[in-house]
Amino acid sequence: MTSETLIHKDGLYVMQTYSRHPVAVKSGTGATLTDFEGRQYIDFTSGIGVNSVGYSNPKWVSAVAGQAKTLAHISNLFYTEPGTLLAEKLCALSHMNKVFFANSGAESNEGMIKLARKYSYDRYGSGRFTIITLRQSFHGRTITTLSATGQDKFHNYFFPFTDGFRYAPPNDIDAVEALDDGSVCAVMIELVQGEGGVHPLDPDYVKGLESLCRERDWLLLADEVQTGIGRTGKFFAYEHYGILPDAVSFAKGIAGGLPLGGFLVNEKLSSVLGPGTHATTYGANPVCCAAGLAVLDILVNDGVMDTVEEKGRYIRSMIESFRLPVINGTRGLGLMIGISCYGVEPSAAAAALISNGLLVLTAGSDAIRLLPPLTITYEEIDKGLEIFNGTISRL
Ligand code: PLP
Repeated sequence: MTSETLIHKDGLYVMQTYSRHPVAVKSGTGATLTDFEGRQYIDFTSGIGVNSVGYSNPKWVSAVAGQAKTLAHISNLFYTEPGTLLAEKLCALSHMNKVFFANSGAESNEGMIKLARKYSYDRYGSGRFTIITLRQSFHGRTITTLSATGQDKFHNYFFPFTDGFRYAPPNDIDAVEALDDGSVCAVMIELVQGEGGVHPLDPDYVKGLESLCRERDWLLLADEVQTGIGRTGKFFAYEHYGILPDAVSFAKGIAGGLPLGGFLVNEKLSSVLGPGTHATTYGANPVCCAAGLAVLDILVNDGVMDTVEEKGRYIRSMIESFRLPVINGTRGLGLMIGISCYGVEPSAAAAALISNGLLVLTAGSDAIRLLPPLTITYEEIDKGLEIFNGTISRL
């Protein structure tokens, strides 16, 4: 197979719903990928925040292969070991009480939305169902999570969308209060808006939201699909803010490359969803959960999570030190980095970087976004930064 034949065949048989770069990836080790012609790329994307422990990580490979040989799937009608052990670890690391396992970020958020509405229904009866989300947020691609997403460009074509979402501008507590019409049951936030442009929320605002939610018995829901599982240097980004949400969703980095997600809840919510109210066939899949256990072992026991903030600071300070005329500055938390572009389209800058051997993402209207594997080495970072400087200085 060559990259060219693969790309051609894909065009014939796969629905073309993604605008992809002309790169066909064959394999990877650490944060370095190889295409079908043997060309190497430094990966500052980790498959959009998924490959948290890099490619072909020996501990991860051995956990996945071992579990695949033992038991790949049996459904939630029976008990399996990896899911239960992973649940125990996730509860301990998050200071939450119980978990529900799903398979993707959107599904995890759907579950959290159902949780909030059921909590309110059980306690207050019907009519209290509105969930406030933020402008520039992103919560997923199902009909309901598109509705939850506070960007008008996502509210097209697929009418009717799920009712019961209202949007407030970020960092404006009065705007949230102004949306209280008696029908609100929850507020859902990303602590760092990812797809919206890598914008961390203001700490005072987040504290204010927590108090407002407690005062009105609204649930505070944290969508940590992108920010969670060590991405920002803490297990969950809410730890940077000194708050504890009522529920938190996760996905992406948890299983290091396999589809797994879910949401964790505090004690008050631990029995809101009972038998028959929520389910998914693949939830707590043993292979995915074994991968999740390996990821947590690498991030927590091997100390990788403790390196994340320093690596993030290093990348940002190096990029700022290049003094590139088309770069306005950097923002973010840990290894979730936004690079603000000026006078150049982020998509054009990303295409140039990728063709020169550095994979990057874009976010919002102005940013190149970096989400490297958390295990990336300083040698790989330096190689990536050299490509970044060389490419962007020539734009
Ligand atoms: N929530 C956030 C904050 C995300 O960044 C994403 C994906 O980028 C999602 C939800 C949706 O996750 P998925 O694509 O796994 O459904």
